[in-house]
Amino acid sequence: MVPVSIAEAEWAAAVRTVRELAPGGRVLLVCHVNPDGDALGSMLGFALGLRRLGVRDLQATFPGPFEIPDPFTGLPGLDLLVPEAEAYPDPDLMVVFDVASESRLGGLVDRLDTAGAAVVLDHHASNTRFGGVHLVDATAAATSVVAEELLDRLDVPLDAEIAECLYVALATDTGSFRFDMTTPRVHEMAARLIATGLRPGDISRRIFDSRPFGAMKLFADVLGRAQLDPTAAGGHGMVWTYATLEDLVRHEQRPYVLDALIDPVRCVAEVDVSVVVKQLGDGEWAVSLRSKGAVDVSGVAVALGGGGHRLAAGFTGYGTPGDVVVAVREELDRHLI
Ligand code: 5GP
Ligand code: MN
Repeated sequence: MVPVSIAEAEWAAAVRTVRELAPGGRVLLVCHVNPDGDALGSMLGFALGLRRLGVRDLQATFPGPFEIPDPFTGLPGLDLLVPEAEAYPDPDLMVVFDVASESRLGGLVDRLDTAGAAVVLDHHASNTRFGGVHLVDATAAATSVVAEELLDRLDVPLDAEIAECLYVALATDTGSFRFDMTTPRVHEMAARLIATGLRPGDISRRIFDSRPFGAMKLFADVLGRAQLDPTAAGGHGMVWTYATLEDLVRHEQRPYVLDALIDPVRCVAEVDVSVVVKQLGDGEWAVSLRSKGAVDVSGVAVALGGGGHRLAAGFTGYGTPGDVVVAVREELDRHLI
């Protein structure tokens, strides 16, 4: 299990490593496959901070298809992003963001061996402690909370561009400051970020409240086939649905639009657990799990080869959507809180 906070010695090691290797070296920043707001925001915010420190040879990347979800195409620092294939093969320093386990690094996992040093910033309880220096705090609402503190310890002052990246990350992982992780510390950080001149209304509209017409029609189809399973999870109940690649083609949509589908599904009042099964390929599905508090879905996801947080987790499932849901249903009873 991840310790509740980051030890001083670990912070000191991270600061020493960055100060020693970053200024004259090649620095590779990596976040998880299919990046979300926290992955991209914490990585790019930190990248801009390193740039302010004078680091010149700097790349940010993520494994898998080089596709930036539309809501994030306006993020500062995007010019630092390179496709996986162009990433330094043997960077002097690797810094990893929002990655709970090595599998989330895809084809970039070899850099853990070829890099001079690897510093990992994360907030997943399921973090497997790969890499050399572990800045992993399971009580942090987002990886950007850890990134902000590391920048502060490196004496990088916040500016509006860094703040925008870190704010997008914080707002994403707290569900717009609604989830339980929204502590005084989160609001204090948000205050520091907004004080740089951010416009939270503009940012929220861009990242949460904007989607193509075709995506809305796609949601209508997918929500229309949702099923209620009131006896699952020891009677706490489950709701589930699935989206296929054919659904995406029919509505001419990119896969990232499906990431927001869990939000209407998890609002179903009658149940505790919500599941969205999204097709990745032939018989391969990305599964999103949410609980309102009766089930540790991180435990469910880990048992099925994935990871995440107690109330929000995911994994890759195989077979038909029905097969995937049967596997989830079996695990739910083993992870009641
Ligand atoms: P989402 O459902 O929004 O994709 O992910 C919810 C949480 O579960 C996030 O913290 C995400 O990092 C984690 N997660 C989602 N899919 C996977 C997966 O396949 N493997 C692991 N280790 N974590 C995942
Ligand atoms: Mn995160």
